[in-house]
Amino acid sequence: MELNDDDDARAAGARLTLREAVRILGTHYGPVERPPASDPFALVLWENVAYLATPAKRREAFEELRKTVGTSPATIANASDRALEKVTARGILGARFAAKLRECARIAIEEHGGELAAIVRGPLPQAKKALRAYPGIGEPGAEKILLFAGREALLAPEANGLRVLERLGFVRHDASYARMYAASREAAKALPSDVRAMQTAHLLLQEHGRALCKRTAPRCEVCPLVRRCTYAHGRPGLAPPRRRRVLSPKT
Ligand code: SF4
Repeated sequence: MELNDDDDARAAGARLTLREAVRILGTHYGPVERPPASDPFALVLWENVAYLATPAKRREAFEELRKTVGTSPATIANASDRALEKVTARGILGARFAAKLRECARIAIEEHGGELAAIVRGPLPQAKKALRAYPGIGEPGAEKILLFAGREALLAPEANGLRVLERLGFVRHDASYARMYAASREAAKALPSDVRAMQTAHLLLQEHGRALCKRTAPRCEVCPLVRRCTYAHGRPGLAPPRRRRVLSPKT
């Protein structure tokens, strides 16, 4: 049987690289669903449109917002509470999140002249600061918006992606989420610095954390990374010990 690159690397006991992990996840999951917009204000709304909803419900809420209200600061500012709540009801705390959508519109109009695209194209620290003024957007959220707006190739892993990075051994566990998140920036240097490739890596790590590498019961037995995963190697009976390739003496 012919060995592929991954079999070869495993046989040689080579440490998994983040690039390889992303490639293997890409083969396993296929094309990943991207956020429904690349406009930075629409991405701010995407973060607030349906709190704690499933990915499908959140997408449904965003599509309804786009169709029934619109996604510009002006249309949201002028929408009725009822129209906004109908959208945000796809998640929990619908009334509170309808008010958050309205607050997003207010900030965009009053602080940013109704237009976020120019700020996002400006210097990175100012762009992050401007985004962090919006409800529900911390530093990871701001970096994620900059990633999907096409501004900067930042990995910006959310909780699911960060957990995968930790279990695979790319980020050291730390009681501080902020420190672990900061460490993920160092890990991301191993990935191509191309925005589209970084978006794909972000989405694949997120999908893996949701689908198999779950917080309480990771499904290592069906994971394509199990043989080279640091976490799985500490779980008896899951991953066989890494094999070292025995080289034949030169003849
Ligand atoms: S082997 Fe288990 S812990 Fe490791 S990445 Fe896969 S699901 Fe996560």
